[in-house]
Parts: sequence; C-alpha cells; structure tokens
Amino acid sequence: MRHLILPFVTAAGVLAGLAPAAHASLDVVTTTQDPAAITRAIGGDRVNVLSLCKGYQDPHYLDAKPSYMLKLHNADLVEVIGLDLEIGYIGPLLTGARNENIMPGQNGYLDLSTVIQPLEVIPVADRGQGDIHPLGNPHYWLDPENGRLMARAIAARLTALDPEGKATYQANLAAFEKTLDAKEPVWAQRMAPLKGKEIVTYHLSWTYFAKRYGFSVVGFVEPKPGIPPTPAHTLGTIKLIRSREIGLLLMENFYDERVPKIIADKTGAGLAVVPNSVGGTEDVKTYFDLLDHITSVIEKTYRSNP
Ligand SMILES: [Zn+2]
Repeated sequence: MRHLILPFVTAAGVLAGLAPAAHASLDVVTTTQDPAAITRAIGGDRVNVLSLCKGYQDPHYLDAKPSYMLKLHNADLVEVIGLDLEIGYIGPLLTGARNENIMPGQNGYLDLSTVIQPLEVIPVADRGQGDIHPLGNPHYWLDPENGRLMARAIAARLTALDPEGKATYQANLAAFEKTLDAKEPVWAQRMAPLKGKEIVTYHLSWTYFAKRYGFSVVGFVEPKPGIPPTPAHTLGTIKLIRSREIGLLLMENFYDERVPKIIADKTGAGLAVVPNSVGGTEDVKTYFDLLDHITSVIEKTYRSNP
C-alpha cells in the first residue's frame, strides 16, 4: 500500500513547500535548529526558516549538498553559530551559493557568536592539532542568557532587512524575553542540587550551561574534543568519577551511548542523555522546550550520593 499512497503525499508536500506563506517576506537559512527556532519565534509569519542540520545530528559535521547551496542562493539571511562549529561545511556552502548578500560582512550574514562572550578561547600560541574549537567554545546556546542575546540580535537583523516588520519583531522579542524570564527560575531550581558540584560530560559542549548553573565539568568521555573514547581514557574517567564521587554523566543523544553506559554502571553516576538542540527529540520544538527537557532529565538523573 505504501507505494500507492506515497506519490500523493510527496506531491502534496512539494506543493506545500512551493506555496509562499501568507505574509512571509524573508527567507532565512540557519546552520542549526536553535537559531532557527528563535528566528521563528521572533519573525512569526514574516519569515520562512530552514535549518540545515537537524537537532538529532552532530552539528560539527554536515554534507555540503548542492541542494543546501540552492537554499542559500535564494536566502535573504543566513545565521551561523560561528566559533568554527560549522568549519567543516560553511565555507563551501557559502561559496557554492553564489549569493553576495549572505557573505560574511554583509547584512545577510549573521554570526551569532559575535553577540555572546566566548569561553575557552585557546591562545594562538597554544593551539595544537587536536583543538576543534580554538576560537572559543561554540556550544553557547545552552546558556539561556545567551539565548536572550541571540534573540535580540536576530530581532535587530530581521528589522534591518525588513523595516516594515519592526513592530512585529519587537512585540515577538518582548514575548520571548517574558517567557524566558518566567522559565529561568524554574530551570535554576531544577539545577540547584548541582550547584558547586563536579560532573563529567561526553563532549565539551556544556561549559556555558555549567557556568550558568554553578557546577563544573571536570572530565570528558572523549579523550580530546572530537576523538571517540579509548579504553585507557575510559578507565581514567571511571577512576576520576569514583575518586571524586561524581553523580552525573551528561551527554548529547547523537553520541554513542555504549561507553557512557559502561562508565555509569561501574561508578553509579547518573547518565543523562539529552538533546542539545531544538529538534533533538520529538517533543523539543522550541528553544524553551530544549531547556525544559534538559533540566528535567538532569533533575531526575543526578545522584547526589553515587
Ligand atoms: Zn564541539
């Protein structure tokens, strides 16, 4: 039956994709789903937003497909996370798009890392081969206050590109910040048991999140950022967790869970597997959903006496 129904579904999908939204005036392409979700919240029906990476994919890697170049060719605005998160694909995509308006330095290019305070910037002299994020840690969207800065920057840029929408963008930004103001104390309360504690994570993606909620990341499942776990390093991580009585191992759901599960089993630490972007799980559709989901999983998983 499937092959009989599919052509209709596909045709309808294509037609829906081609039909312009009622009032949309700006085509926005983002590299990841977090700026996309914030842009939808701010832009409402004045924007069409497409994210190249899906939230359940590792955002460090993406195939620079010709279809993505076509999307960028027609885009009014491209938003990137920056700090080399997209270093593996953004260059070829922008070059292949042949759209001068979205090149760095133009109004159609928004590098959101320019509005936040980067952490873990590696001094030029100390940069080696193994650093995948020498310009600073790019996983800043996991601090809700950085989400606020991203929203403000997006609202300002949408207004610059579409001055007629100014009132809409301002009202939506105000609503976004109001929701953020209401949610932040809830998230802080859930994270309160971790204050002053040490945790271990898979990748170094939780620096900003940890700083916001007052705990420290003292070890990683990866021996070096971007390098999969080795037996020797895993043994070291198990020893570290046992000796410091660490109660939480936090990881993104797109990494392999096998080694983290072994570490958690052997140490008694709680293993929190969470989406790290909007779209990372089906229920995470907005930026607020993302932090709702992460904080509630951590609250349930953290073991204060491992
Ligand atoms: Zn990273």
